[in-house]
Amino acid sequence: MEKKRILIAGAAGFLGSHLCDRFIKEGFHVIGMDNLLTGNIKNIEHLFPLQDFEYYHHDVTKFIHVPGKLDYILNFASPASPIDYLKMPIQTLKVGSLGTHNLLGLAKEKKARILVASTSEVYGDPNVHPQTEEYWGNVNPVGPRGVYDEAKRFLESITMAYHNFHGVETRIVRIFNTYGPRMRLNDGRALPAFMSQALSGQDLTVFGDGKQTRSFCYVDDLIEGIYRLLLSDYHLPVNIGNPEEITLNQFAEEIIALTGSKQKIVYHPLPKDDPKQRQPDITKARTLLGWEPKVGRQEGLKITFEYFKQALLK
Ligand code: NAD
Repeated sequence: MEKKRILIAGAAGFLGSHLCDRFIKEGFHVIGMDNLLTGNIKNIEHLFPLQDFEYYHHDVTKFIHVPGKLDYILNFASPASPIDYLKMPIQTLKVGSLGTHNLLGLAKEKKARILVASTSEVYGDPNVHPQTEEYWGNVNPVGPRGVYDEAKRFLESITMAYHNFHGVETRIVRIFNTYGPRMRLNDGRALPAFMSQALSGQDLTVFGDGKQTRSFCYVDDLIEGIYRLLLSDYHLPVNIGNPEEITLNQFAEEIIALTGSKQKIVYHPLPKDDPKQRQPDITKARTLLGWEPKVGRQEGLKITFEYFKQALLK
């Protein structure tokens, strides 16, 4: 039987590379696309010898041509960490808008089903807790984080428009904080920052009083949720994340204990518009996809710590 062909935009990134691995494992022909803005080719180099993997070095904000049929498209191209999108605000807005537009156009041309990566950031600094998909969010469009949040809100809007107006088969995943191997040590997010500080003997930096909460999902769980959503028949947004909430103080303590480091926590001022609480309501994922996270934080953090230790040695 002919293999299903899937295009993964953002293939060399943290999540994109895990998606490439998963779809290869499921027997797909995978076409990875990336311009290496924030990604690393090392994340997918192991796939290059495979017949069922192709790599296109391409910026998705430019016209996209992929020869042959396509059954599925995943749009995971975008700077994703605050450090990246604050440094590259225009690229972030362009990839969320023009890039998504191009990929939707390709989906229409190829009659492919497309899944786009949205984010919990569409909820902004939420007034509703935990966040259900019906909550419209509390985003400051002109604040520094607006470039990412509004790019993703536009991504959702244009995806719905292609679904409603052109009948394209679309899926929208709202991803909450995810961690695991292949995250960049210096991407500015709490987990890699804490781990690299602990590993290099520096104190752990917490912004604000550390009482703000986050929930962290292990990457294998997220990938399973995305896989199920893509193959489902549900076109409205679905939250995928781990609902177990933890304060940043507790999280920093857990990492100090895990790494056996002697460092302490130091406090820095909170960045502007930093959300105080984040927790997904995953009722939809549970009922529609039969999905829930399986990997506990202790186990996931251990695997990630081993990865970071190796990465620091290289
Ligand atoms: P990442 O930075 O590791 O990966 C993004 C990839 O997209 C990189 O390889 C980058 O080079 C590529 N890219 C950026 N602009 C591009 C362009 N114009 N053309 C082609 N490729 C381009 O980030 P990630 O954590 O893997 O995030 C992937 C997606 O998931 C993003 O859309 C992000 O918004 C979303 N997301 C991630 C998280 C998370 O916790 N990691 C949470 C919510 C949403």
